[in-house]
Amino acid sequence: MSEKKTRIETKCVQGGYHPKSGEPRQIPIVQSTTFKYATSEDMGKLFDLEASGYFYSRLQNPTCDTVAARICELEGGSAAMLTSSGQAANFFAVFNIASEGDHVVASSAIYGGTYNLFAVTMKRMGISFTFVSPDATREELDAAFRPNTKAMFGETIANPALNVLDIELFAEVAHAHGVPLIIDNTFATPINCRPFEWGADIVTHSTTKYMDGHGSAVGGCIVDSGKFDWMAHKDKFPGLTTPDDSYHGITYAEKFGKEGAYITKATAQLMRDFGCTQSPQSAFILGLGLESLHVRVARHCENALAVAKFLQSHEKVEWVTYPGLEGDKYYNRAKKYMPNGTCGVVSFGVKGGREAAEKFMKELKLGAIETHVADARTCCLHPASATHRQMNDDELRAAGVSPDLVRYSCGIENKDDLIEDLEEALAKI
Ligand SMILES: *Cc1c(COP(=O)(O)O)cnc(C)c1O
Repeated sequence: MSEKKTRIETKCVQGGYHPKSGEPRQIPIVQSTTFKYATSEDMGKLFDLEASGYFYSRLQNPTCDTVAARICELEGGSAAMLTSSGQAANFFAVFNIASEGDHVVASSAIYGGTYNLFAVTMKRMGISFTFVSPDATREELDAAFRPNTKAMFGETIANPALNVLDIELFAEVAHAHGVPLIIDNTFATPINCRPFEWGADIVTHSTTKYMDGHGSAVGGCIVDSGKFDWMAHKDKFPGLTTPDDSYHGITYAEKFGKEGAYITKATAQLMRDFGCTQSPQSAFILGLGLESLHVRVARHCENALAVAKFLQSHEKVEWVTYPGLEGDKYYNRAKKYMPNGTCGVVSFGVKGGREAAEKFMKELKLGAIETHVADARTCCLHPASATHRQMNDDELRAAGVSPDLVRYSCGIENKDDLIEDLEEALAKI
């Protein structure tokens, strides 16, 4: 059976690691900062990117590369790298192709940390962002582009607003303007959606969420589809299409082609200079999580649908958003992009607004108050007073976060237990 042809469940368990006779069955943790060489010339070739191999774990490590290769297979990409966090992944994904004076078009319905990274921190670096509605028309999206726009960015399912992005439309518009579409696929995971199949060029993940899935290791990942033709837009992406003086004049897009240029540059320059590496220990934990991703995601989705239906029918609940729920604003779009399920997160508002929300959350016994989602254990959060507290009311509205929004992340416990827990807490408000 050829590895390429295996189905996604098999890739979760066996992807990226193919031990030879007598080698460890499980991915070895190479807990070494450095690697030994016989001669200085051998090592010099690695520094010049003339040969591939390991020399220092800030740039590359075998455990991290093996786990990245598994995620690369899951997404159907050409190359991938792990990063220390999802924040680092989104920063690298954009900064790899945009510099001071450049511009990026991003969906406004994104994770609060990413919004802050773009609107505040990267703005300070001289990169400007235009935020567009995830439901913008083609004309509205077109109007957001400028001659110096270098990328378009969105989330498959927005955290925590749960808007589903029209990936195909965003990709068409991005390509019409000669730039790649970057998709943060954290909530959907490649089990439910593979953005490359809809035209996206680069995918990012906070692996801290479903991929690890056990609340154990912070991490991120960037995957390149290998389809974006940098050389066809030579003037827009000089970092990839002209010689890199810090690497003896290598032109990444020429030397590594469409398939390898983007990730090689992100590793050779950004990892070298910023050092946001994932530790081999964390990568190993992530690899373990990936082995059961397909099993867990299905259960997360089953539980979330049952919880969403229960909440929808409860008299103390004002509104429920879950893209897998019939009648949801994004139900049809979700059916197109995620026919097998969306995610385990349900957003809702209880009657009585912000105060009632906080009281209700305190009464939950199984659902713990945490700044986390996508864990095997059920957890919940009030974003307006936590992850999104830097935003003013207008920014909150643009991100799809109302002041009463409770983000409830269904774990993989028994769904009847979760519903009873919710019922008891609702009875107390
Ligand atoms: C959590 C999250 C991030 C940030 O990831 P960290 O691993 O916490 O740095 C980015 N995007 C989305 C959609 C997330 O949910």
